[in-house]
Amino acid sequence: MARIQLSTGRLNSDFVRRVAELSGQDLLACYQCGKCSAGCPAAGSMNVLPSQIIRLVQLGLEDEVLQSETIWYCASCLTCVARCPKGVDLARVMEAIRKIALERYGDHILVTKISPDELAEWPQQAFIGGFRKYTR
Ligand code: SF4
Ligand code: SF4
Repeated sequence: MARIQLSTGRLNSDFVRRVAELSGQDLLACYQCGKCSAGCPAAGSMNVLPSQIIRLVQLGLEDEVLQSETIWYCASCLTCVARCPKGVDLARVMEAIRKIALERYGDHILVTKISPDELAEWPQQAFIGGFRKYTR
């Protein structure tokens, strides 16, 4: 595993403050019990587990968080929220991180890349939900 550099600047960065502000969550409440990751139905597809995401945010490791595929796999199913003994709403944290990633890197999917066949096949509700999640 790559060596991670920590600093007080990172721990108190604008990124950490912004995630806390947008999500409305006390990020330091998480004590890494792992119950969120153990129950997450999407964990098998994630490259970083949900509990690891919140740890990376606590440490201010912005690039590692924003470049993770995990934030896009999170289905906002709220299983982690129901399981968390500290009342952390991780779904809101994921949503906040996605918002910051969209602002920084632009849309995660391009509407113009969706084929007419897919457009005809996919349920309209899935499109609306997808655009809300993956575009600015
Ligand atoms: S809200 Fe996201 S992180 Fe939480 S359990 Fe559901 S898919 Fe996993
Ligand atoms: S369940 Fe809550 S306290 Fe436990 S690791 Fe997940 S977010 Fe942190």
